[in-house]
Amino acid sequence: MRELFSPCILCGHRCKVNRISGDHGICKAGNTVKVASYTVHHGEEPYISGFQGSGTIFFSCCNLYCPFCQNHEISHGNKGEAVTPEKLADMMLELQRKGAHNINLVTPTHYMPGILEALSIAYENKLDVPLVYNTNGYDSIELLRLLEGVIDIYMPDMKYFDKSTAKKFSNADNYPEAAMEGIREMYRQVGNLKVNEDDVAYKGLLVRHLVLPGNVEDSKKVIEFLSGISKDLVVSIMSQYSPQYKACEHPEINRKLTKEEYWEVIRKVQESGLQDYLIQEMDSSEVYLPDFDKDEPFK
Ligand code: SF4
Repeated sequence: MRELFSPCILCGHRCKVNRISGDHGICKAGNTVKVASYTVHHGEEPYISGFQGSGTIFFSCCNLYCPFCQNHEISHGNKGEAVTPEKLADMMLELQRKGAHNINLVTPTHYMPGILEALSIAYENKLDVPLVYNTNGYDSIELLRLLEGVIDIYMPDMKYFDKSTAKKFSNADNYPEAAMEGIREMYRQVGNLKVNEDDVAYKGLLVRHLVLPGNVEDSKKVIEFLSGISKDLVVSIMSQYSPQYKACEHPEINRKLTKEEYWEVIRKVQESGLQDYLIQEMDSSEVYLPDFDKDEPFK
């Protein structure tokens, strides 16, 4: 794994800086893992949070600089605390002791070498809940191949299909290409989502897509791509966009999503034949179970 760190090609930017000797690339992450917070979280998709919560660990920094980021203090402000592999392993074990169904690594890409060191310590100390890789979708294919057999549940975003949109909002015009290649690789490794008798996931792929205002046509292309992977792929279609942080610098996304826009995307999901999709009520971060009334969700 360290060979992907120096020169760094952990994500689609492929900065090729020497992270081990302390150089920084676009993500500004150093060579020590930095954690912003960790907690048992009940707000993830129901398959992930289950009834006891998901053991989320939020990592500092990010390789994408989306102007609408809801966690910008962590992702762009780099707020957090540097941790040793031993300390990070302790956090994982503490979350397991608190009953978390899984360990949920949030935006882990740029720290994966250090996270793997922590995991090997945690496994020696009887960590045995599934591992969730909760990524923005901009991982290098080399990194994902090395994670085969390590990650139980992949939970990537697929933010954009269009290169120009990816360039405009995340300064990464190869994002769609990287995300599509990555999602295919994740699917090859773990397949569709598998759940236990309590409907809590223990293996597989769940893809998230946040619908942006004025971007319905791009969302439809994302859905077409995802439905081409498997009609049983679980997708979470998120409506919770709000114009935060630097969204005001982009007039086209400096407003909330409308119900009509969101519903048009849901219709596309239904037409695509995808069987298992999760939707959100407008103005809510709550994700509904698949048996929610999908015909008239916003009456
Ligand atoms: S993780 Fe990505 S953005 Fe960060 S230094 Fe490596 S290649 Fe660059």
